[in-house]
Amino acid sequence: MKKDIVIVGAGPAGLSFASSLESTGLRVLVVEKCASATLADPPVDGRDIALTHLSRKILSELGVWDRLPGDEIFPIRKARVVDGESPYLLQFDRDKGLEQDLGFLVSNHLLRKALYERVSGCENIQLLTGTTAKSVVAGRDGAQVNLSNEEMVNASLIVAADSRFSEIRRNTGIPASMHDFGRVAIVCRMKHRQSNQATAWECFHYGQTLAVLPLSEYESSIVITVPTDRADHFMTQPVSAFNQDVEQQFGGKLGAMDLNGERFAYPLVAVWANRFVGPRFAVIGDAAVGMHPVTAHGFNLGLRGQHTLAGLVRSAAGAGRDISSDSLLKRYESTHRRAARPIYLGTNAIVKLFTNDLPLHRLARKVVLHLGNAFPPIRQVITNQLTETTRSI
Ligand SMILES: Cc1cc2nc3c(=O)[nH]c(=O)nc-3n(C[C@H](O)[C@H](O)[C@H](O)COP(=O)(O)OP(=O)(O)OC[C@H]3O[C@@H](n4cnc5c(N)ncnc54)[C@H](O)[C@@H]3O)c2cc1C
Repeated sequence: MKKDIVIVGAGPAGLSFASSLESTGLRVLVVEKCASATLADPPVDGRDIALTHLSRKILSELGVWDRLPGDEIFPIRKARVVDGESPYLLQFDRDKGLEQDLGFLVSNHLLRKALYERVSGCENIQLLTGTTAKSVVAGRDGAQVNLSNEEMVNASLIVAADSRFSEIRRNTGIPASMHDFGRVAIVCRMKHRQSNQATAWECFHYGQTLAVLPLSEYESSIVITVPTDRADHFMTQPVSAFNQDVEQQFGGKLGAMDLNGERFAYPLVAVWANRFVGPRFAVIGDAAVGMHPVTAHGFNLGLRGQHTLAGLVRSAAGAGRDISSDSLLKRYESTHRRAARPIYLGTNAIVKLFTNDLPLHRLARKVVLHLGNAFPPIRQVITNQLTETTRSI
């Protein structure tokens, strides 16, 4: 087989990149190890993805946003950050200078479904499902992907979107720094008696954290982050005890709470690829930068990265230039590294500060929250960073 671009991985990043290449005339192949039935109707995985304004814009331009069921897009109107047992709150809302919603929550499986439907309708894109990319050979003279069905595909450019534990990144010799937080995020949905008022809460308790993200008025997405050795306890705890535990951790703010569906566990490992490109090769999505979910930036960042690369590829193709030149790939790398590095380092610093319970850190946590409230410009910077309201594409 011969293609212009091969994308390995039909996760949210790979499918976004593929749909960004519609109408380019480029022949694109997406290789995915899952079956097409799974991609067409992805199972619920417990992740409710907080999307920024910039992501909504990109997804709208890709024709994906309108494919999401309108009653499954939930606005986040306010946010509160709590430290330890203190009643003091860092607040983000309209009274505090916020001009629009902070962002939107959409279930990951619906996002994947909409992306798959979008890509399935693109004439220049072929989806090869139930097939694993086993290895890649990429050099200045050409690039090849070897598939589990024994086929070999030649391409001008290979793009790996095969998760933070990317085998293809490793296979092409790109090292990555990985940080295992020694923690697990347990995610689920819960119903509750009182309205969540479209408010997102991040509670940095001592020993564990709890995020409560608003879905419909009486249902929220819950993310409990605990040390790995306590994860089994929360995953296997009888439902009534789990309900009581979360209700108590949240100080009863939403009244009685009831687990709605399954609990899912995600070990938390941050990943930073030391390079995002090689000859005729690029990494995007979590394969480039795998984030801790506390700042909800993983997919938002992946979407931005693919947008940058796709823009460069589209203009090269339109002008009849090489779509995999070293200069093009370097430009993608430098632009995306500049965008991603502060968010990646900032997120890791937040995790370090708010998961360390030593007295000095406890004090620093309080100072950070008070500074955030006392100085509107600081809060504005944080808000812009979290919501990407002012960033253009
Ligand atoms: C608990 C949790 C909460 C999160 N919340 C948010 C949030 O609020 N906001 C946000 O922006 N992000 C969030 N994220 C991050 C977001 O889910 C990820 O950034 C996003 O899913 C990454 O997409 P991806 O396509 O890069 O990788 P993945 O989703 O990992 O997809 C990779 C794909 O590649 C396929 N694949 C792998 N290897 C091969 C191979 N060799 N051959 C063929 N196919 C292959 C896999 O089957 C898979 O389909 C959260 C993550 C977690 C864990």
